[in-house]
Order: sequence, then structure tokens, then C-alpha cells
Amino acid sequence: MLVVHSNPLAEPGSGDAGGMTVYVRQMAASLAQRGIKVDIFTRRDDAATPTEMTLRPDVRVIQVVAGSPELSKEQIPAYLPEFSANLLKMVEDSGVTYDVVHSHYWLSGKVAAIVSARWKVPFVHTFHTLGREKNRARRPGDSPEPEFRLDGEARVIADACAIVASTVEERRALIELYAAHPERIHLIPPGVDHSTFRPQDREAAKQALGLDGKKVMIFVGRLQPLKAADIAIEALGHLVRWGRVNLDEIRLLIVGGASGTSGASETGRLGDLVERLGLKEAVQFVPAQPHHRLPAFYQAADVCLVPSYTESFGLVALEAQASGVPVVGSAVGGLKAIVKHGQTGFLVLPGASESFAERAWMVLSDSRLAAGMGRLAVCSSGDFAWDRSAGELHDLYTAGVRSNDCSPSSMWSGNKPFGSRTIVLKRP
Ligand code: UDP
Repeated sequence: MLVVHSNPLAEPGSGDAGGMTVYVRQMAASLAQRGIKVDIFTRRDDAATPTEMTLRPDVRVIQVVAGSPELSKEQIPAYLPEFSANLLKMVEDSGVTYDVVHSHYWLSGKVAAIVSARWKVPFVHTFHTLGREKNRARRPGDSPEPEFRLDGEARVIADACAIVASTVEERRALIELYAAHPERIHLIPPGVDHSTFRPQDREAAKQALGLDGKKVMIFVGRLQPLKAADIAIEALGHLVRWGRVNLDEIRLLIVGGASGTSGASETGRLGDLVERLGLKEAVQFVPAQPHHRLPAFYQAADVCLVPSYTESFGLVALEAQASGVPVVGSAVGGLKAIVKHGQTGFLVLPGASESFAERAWMVLSDSRLAAGMGRLAVCSSGDFAWDRSAGELHDLYTAGVRSNDCSPSSMWSGNKPFGSRTIVLKRP
């Protein structure tokens, strides 16, 4: 696996580490359980860590030097040739050979095109986010995704043997915004670790966090304008202004750290908003938590708000539902596949803070509705599991290895190694 710009050793929840980090770690672990050895190559972003680390048996993280450790994501494109050259040398010197290359995010796709051509092995790509989709949902304060990213993504789509899309929405975006060939796109959703994210006694969980007796709303994610934590704060403001709750009866937890070029100003903006709306007593900013610590927070929540303007999948919504927490989310991207409107939570228009408030209040004020939704949320999350997704990925890899021909020219001549194979997801 190639994941150039986001080191999977970093804890998710701030900076560049988020859903993709969780996806890469979990998929690698589940593939390893199926007997596939996985090496994850990433750019060395910390000179203090060893070049090679074992994440779990059969999964290694190997750091490749390209530029100085502290480069920002925006600076990385200029260092892709150095990354590719160092990666080729490292692997070829070691004598290890690979059957398949799976790249994550467009930067890694550019490297995958080079190494897969040299090693004559197929390459599978997962985008995680698409520049054109992000530009469509861009918020004030966010800079547009640059042309070179959009061009780079188009190039990766042309070069990859197979593209893994997490949802039908992402598949549609790949076809409509990038003219991707539908046959080359394979729908494989991410999963959730049900042994970690599961329901627990909510009152005990609240007590553990010092929230006993409070109604608790939660927002989890990297803090940047597209994630719209401000909408969660405004929703709380409406509930207080409408006289539904007093400040001492409710808490909004915002769990996560600054991310991206606008991350630093975003945390300031959110703090100012809390101040302006007079909500200081009721809003708790919790710094990014290691992934294994998050269940303690979800389990204490009565409702989870996911107000993102765009979300290619939305692991947070899935983790909350697996923990038995109803979700009020924006009707965008993967959230439309995860949240079953009226059953496991509610879908509302992105940016509509009053609607978030109204729907959240329906859950907060009606314990029978909340309990029913929580139960359905757990059932519905059962459709997603890392092991099942890894099985589908395994099938895809195996098809590529068998065909053993993945040159771009063969793609265009109709001899598509993955093209003839359709993996149809059948969910119970
Ligand atoms: N996350 C975490 N700690 C935090 C905040 C978030 O581990 O403090 C994790 C969260 O559990 C989820 C991931 O980061 O698995 C975010 O994924 P999502 O798909 O919701 O958003 P993305 O980061 O991909 O935009």
C-alpha cells in the first residue's frame, strides 16, 4: 500500500490524519488476517521514528525519505519524484516483490503509476476525497483545490487498473466529474470495528466523563470549515434560544483537532462563535483522541451531529451508530448511505442549523424514539465490517494478479483486467 502524505502511524483526528488513516490501518490488518502480507509505504515525516515498524503481524509501515520531515501536504507534490525514486531503490535493494500495489489519495496514485509500470503489477486506487467534489462544497475560508490536483486525479483515473469507491455517490462523482470508466470502479465500503464501537450503559459512560444528568450531543472530527462544527454549535444555540434546554442541562462535546490550511483559524472561529452565542458553559472542546479512546465519548452521547458539507464516506457516523447513538447528519455523500432517515437518525440539508437543532431535539426529548433509533443504528451498522470489505478487496486483488496485465494501453484496448469482473455488494 502507498499512503504518501498521511503517515498511518499518526493518530487520527487532527492534521492530515483522519478517516484514511483508520481505513488503511484496518484494511491492512484485515487483509493480514486473510493471509496477505502488507507493506505500507509512507513519506518519512518524523526523523525520530525507525524507518520500518511492525503495526501488527504481517503489516509493516516503511517510511521513505522525500524532502524534509516537516513538509506540508501542499508541498508534497514537488517531492513525488524523489519519493518514487527512493521507494524503487529501497524495494529493489531489499529483493522483496509485490503482487499488487494499492494507493490511497491522488498523491499516492501518481507514485503507484510509476512503480506498478516498473514492477509490472496491477495497481488499485482509492481516492478517499476528490478535489472537484471538495471544490463544489467549498466554504468561505477554504482555498480551492488546485488545478494540478484535479489534473493529477484525472491521470490516476486513467492509469489505475481499478478504482475502489466507498459509496455509489463517490462512484457517480468519479463518472460525472472525471469521466471515469464505470467498469473500472468497484464499490467496496469501509467498515467499523464492532468489538470497539458497541453500545454500553450510557449513564455510566456519562458519569465517567463527569456528564451525569446532562443531555449530551457530540461532534467528532478534524476541525476545518467543511466539517462544519459551527453548525453543531449554532444548533445548540437554537435549542437554548428556543427555551428547549437550559445551559446547565446540556453539553456539546467537540472532539478533534485543527486540520488543513484553515484549521488554525477554524479553531479560533469556533471559540469566538461559542463566546458570541453565550454557550461557553455548555460546549466542551476535547483535543483529538486516540481512536481506541473514542468509544468512551460516543457511548456517553445521546445524539451525534455530523454536519459536514461534503463527506466521501463518514466513518464518524458509522462509529456512532455502531455505538448505539442516533445520528443527525447532512444529506451528503456517504452519510446518505449510513444514516437511514427516520430510522437510525435524520438527514438534513447541509448548513441548516435550525433543522439540525429540531432533529437533535426530537432525539433528545423522546427517550422511546431515541432508544428505538439507537437499536436500529446498531443493526444497520452491521452491514459494514472491515473483514467483509477486506474480503471484497482480496477478491479484487486476486482478479488483478490472475490477469497479470494492467498496462494503461491494455485498459484502453478493451482488455481490462478488472473491467470484466463485477463485484456486486450484497448486503443482508
Ligand atoms: N478520529 C479519531 N480521533 C479524534 C477524531 C476523529 O480517531 O479525535 C477518527 C474517527 O474515529 C474516524 C476518523 O477519525 O474514524 C474520521 O473519519 P471520517 O470518515 O469521519 O472523516 P475524514 O477524516 O475521513 O474526513
